[in-house]
Amino acid sequence: MAEEVKRILAAIEKAIMLEVSELTRAPPNTIWVTEVSRCIRQSFYSRIYLKSLDFGAAYTILRGRLLHEVVLRNMPLGVTETEEGTRSIVVEDEAGKVEVRGRADMVVGDYIVDLKTSERAPDKLPEEYRGQVQLYMELYGRSKGLVVYITREGLKYFQENRDEGRIAKLKEKALKLSRALRENKPPEPEVGFWCRWCSWSTQELCPEGYNYKIGKSSERG
Ligand code: SF4
Repeated sequence: MAEEVKRILAAIEKAIMLEVSELTRAPPNTIWVTEVSRCIRQSFYSRIYLKSLDFGAAYTILRGRLLHEVVLRNMPLGVTETEEGTRSIVVEDEAGKVEVRGRADMVVGDYIVDLKTSERAPDKLPEEYRGQVQLYMELYGRSKGLVVYITREGLKYFQENRDEGRIAKLKEKALKLSRALRENKPPEPEVGFWCRWCSWSTQELCPEGYNYKIGKSSERG
């Protein structure tokens, strides 16, 4: 490959990685909504070991962002409240304050709207996405959530009502993740079918998830 072509490709890759690597660059007392709604041990390792995201993960994030931007840019005026940047809430325990930060795709009346892109929509809303929309309801002070999948086959939606118990548990998880990052000690595993796709499900890093993945656990999803 010609040197000039190499430089062009490297520049494009760098631009993509820069755009999507904010997750791994946050300080330990800032926790992203997307980190809390999944296994926090997975989020812990992603912060520690992924100095930059792998390109596959970056591509998925970028594709989602671009599609969101296109939808939002073409949305008729007045449908959604516009707001630049992220929002945060502060949660606190005896060890200190932690900021839980994120950005909802759309805020419309009582609704937080979260857009997802996928070839096909699932039959049931994954727990991770239920958690995300609950935390966005808390960040933006809304009572209803709508997760809308944009797929090849059209739009499919799932509705979520605000659940204070679930929100309290997610805040607790944010505190645990922040503590784990400050102490450099992995938090408890949250074993489930998602371990099959987790980059950290190895015997050394997460034996519980690894055992589940190879079928040694009774907890099958
Ligand atoms: S393997 Fe499972 S339990 Fe372990 S870090 Fe990954 S998602 Fe969490």
